[in-house]
Amino acid sequence: MNQNPTLIDSPEQLRAMVKVQRGKDHKIALVPTMGALHEGHLALVRQARSLAQTVIVSIFVNPTQFAPNEDFSRYPRTLDRDTELLAGLADVIYVPAVDAMYPKGFATKIVLEGPALGLESDFRPHFFSGVAIVVSKLFLQSGADYALFGEKDYQQLKVVTRLAADLDIPIQIVPGETVRESDGLALSSRNRYLSPDERAIAPVIHQSLVQAAADIRTGTEPGIATERASKAISAAGLRVDYVAARHAEDLSAPTPGVPLRLLAAAWIGGTRLIDNVPV
Ligand code: AMP
Repeated sequence: MNQNPTLIDSPEQLRAMVKVQRGKDHKIALVPTMGALHEGHLALVRQARSLAQTVIVSIFVNPTQFAPNEDFSRYPRTLDRDTELLAGLADVIYVPAVDAMYPKGFATKIVLEGPALGLESDFRPHFFSGVAIVVSKLFLQSGADYALFGEKDYQQLKVVTRLAADLDIPIQIVPGETVRESDGLALSSRNRYLSPDERAIAPVIHQSLVQAAADIRTGTEPGIATERASKAISAAGLRVDYVAARHAEDLSAPTPGVPLRLLAAAWIGGTRLIDNVPV
C-alpha cells in the first residue's frame, strides 16, 4: 500500500485500477462514505484492511438520498482533511462527480420493501431508494469482494444487505460496530452542526436506548420501554421522530421471543441524529 491514497474520480479509472489489483490476486474492500470522515469511518477502513489487500474509500455526497428541504448543500465537504486521515489506511479514494454518477438521462429507481419499510422511511421517504441506487452503482463499479457498513446506520445496513442478496451482487456486506464518544454519543458527520449546549444534551438518545434495553431484559414490555425512552428524550428538549423496537434481523414488528434492536431518531434544534442498540 502507498502511504498516500490514489485519488480516482471516474468509474472507468476505478475499473481499470481494480483490474490491475485483481491481476495481483488482491481481494478488494469498499467503504462507502459521504466524507467528513471521523473515527467511525476510520474504524471501518481498518476493518476493511483486515479483509482485503486493496481498500477503496468512496466519498460521495449523494444527492438522490436528500430531499429538497434537507442538508445536501450544507453537508460538510472536507476532502483535504479526509485525504490526510486516510493516508496509510486506504489505497484509493474514489470521489466521482455527480455527473459521472447521474449522467443526463439517468432514469432508474429502486423500490424497496422489507427492512426499508417504516422507521427512517416514515420521515425520509426518498432516502433508501437514493442509498440503494448509489451503493448498487458503487458495488458494480468497484467489483469489490467486501463492502463495510456501520451499525450506527442499522436500518441502512439491513437494507443494503437485503439489496445485495436480492440482486445477486457478488459482494459480502460486513457490519462494523458503532464508534462512540466517551459519553455515548455516536460519532456522526452531523455532530459538527451541534452548538455546545446541543452537544451537551445529545447523549440522551443513547442513554435512553440503553435504559430501555435494560428494562426489556428485566421484563418490561418493549412498547412500554420505548415509550419511556421517547419521553426521556423529549424531556431533554429534543423532538423525537421515532423510538422503536424491531426484530434485529429483518426489522419487522417484534413478536415475543425474537432478538430485538431498539432504534431512534430525534432532532436537536436543526440537526437530526439517529442511533440504535441491541437488547
Ligand atoms: P456516512 O458518511 O455518514 O454516510 O457514513 C459512511 C459509513 O460510515 C456508513 O456505513 C455508516 O454507518 C458508517 N458510520 C458512520 N458513523 C459511524 C460510527 N459512529 N460508527 C461506525 N460506523 C459509522
